[in-house]
This record gives sequence, structure tokens and C-alpha cells, in this order.
Amino acid sequence: MKNKIVALIGLAVLGCSYASAQEGMQPAMSEFYKPVPPVITPGGEIRGGGFTAPSDAIILFDGKNLSAWESSNGGPAEWKVKDGIFTVDKSKGDIRTKDKFESFQLHLEWRVPETIKGEGQGRGNSGVYLQGMYEIQILDNYNNPTYVNGQAGSIYKQTAPLANAMRKPGEWNVYDIIYTAPVFKEDGSYRTRPQVTIIQNGVVLQNNTTILGTTEYVGFPKVVKHGEGPILLQSHGDPSEPISFRNIWIRKM
Ligand code: MG
Repeated sequence: MKNKIVALIGLAVLGCSYASAQEGMQPAMSEFYKPVPPVITPGGEIRGGGFTAPSDAIILFDGKNLSAWESSNGGPAEWKVKDGIFTVDKSKGDIRTKDKFESFQLHLEWRVPETIKGEGQGRGNSGVYLQGMYEIQILDNYNNPTYVNGQAGSIYKQTAPLANAMRKPGEWNVYDIIYTAPVFKEDGSYRTRPQVTIIQNGVVLQNNTTILGTTEYVGFPKVVKHGEGPILLQSHGDPSEPISFRNIWIRKM
């Protein structure tokens, strides 16, 4: 009873100070005008797909060539470009952007062949690595169950997506990824952890989810100090027909 009275008195005091802080307020006193968000031209809609790049985006693939990319082993990116899209060449390994990034907004579109076969992780497996460190899973999960923290839109082996928003094999899937880079302490631990929001085909899969560390196939996440890093696309060794990409752009934040 005594504790309850103390708590009530505390709330009353807090309430009074909050009320007094509001006295004399005018609407304009809680409005601010600077810095002004930059005015940009939003992209146009693509039938069956996402948006074309806005005016301030860095184009990572515009349908013509892989000049923004390199092999993660060094040397040119040698995946196949044809008819405005590019397709993983599993004999050539992963590719990554030549540019490196901190926090960003990334748009990419991906598609598995209509004729794809296989199951679980062995069907249309790829992935997009943020800063070259953290894999957001790309996988054909259309009527294809697997461990949920390894399905499309998962932070691989960490956090399952909030929904399965897959389109059928043969149709394009759109990812919009909003990523906040981590800040590290001197000793290599996180001061603030990386965070990510993922939207697939207009559906939120990750809502400002905290990334715990590296996305390991075996074992738990590791905290590894790093700076700016590339966008990396995974060449996965699964035996199914390879995945294709189109319309990739990024905005630094
Ligand atoms: Mg993968």
C-alpha cells in the first residue's frame, strides 16, 4: 500500500511538470524547417516490377553490363549479361560492387527460372551481403519450405522474415533494403549494431531488425569490426538452375 502511494505521488509530480512544460506552447514551437530534405525525382513504375532508379541513385546494373561489379576473387565480374538481365555463373564465384558503402537504400530484382527444380536450400539459392558481411537470403520459397531463418528475406541463420511474399518461379521478385551500418568501439565490439528493413514485393519482411553479427552457415554470429563495404551477390553451389537479376540501384544515406 505504501509503495502504491509513493508511486501515485511520483506520477502526480511527473504529470505536473509535463503539464507546466506544455503551458504557453504554440503550434509553431514544435515545428522545424531545416535541414530541408533534398528534392529528388522518384522512379517510374515498371510493370510487374519495382521502381526505376531515382535521380540521386548510383546505378549498379542498368541492363547493359557489369562494369559496377568485380569478382570477389579479384578481376572482372563474369556472370552472363543478356536481354537486360544478368544470370549467376556458378563456376565464377561471388561478385561484389567496386564501390563500398556505409548506410544505404538498395533496390534489386531477382527471378528464378519457371522450370526450376530442387527443394529447401537447394532451389534458387543466392543472397545479398550488406557491406560484404551480412547475408539477406535470396531463395525460391514459393511452395518450398526450409528453416525459417534461412528463407527468402531472412537475416541468414538469425531472424526469419515477417511474411513469405514470394512470387512464382518465372516472375520477378523485388527487394527494397534499408540498411543502417554499425558503429564499432575501439575494442572491436559494436557501439551500435547494424539494422535492416526489408520489403519484398511491397511487403515488410524485416522491420528495422537488429543484425547480431556475421551470418554464419555453421555456428553463431560473430562480431567482426569492419568499415565501409561492398554489396556482394552470392554464387551458391546448389544444383538448381541459376538465378537472374535486373534493375539494381543504391542510394547512400
Ligand atoms: Mg544464400
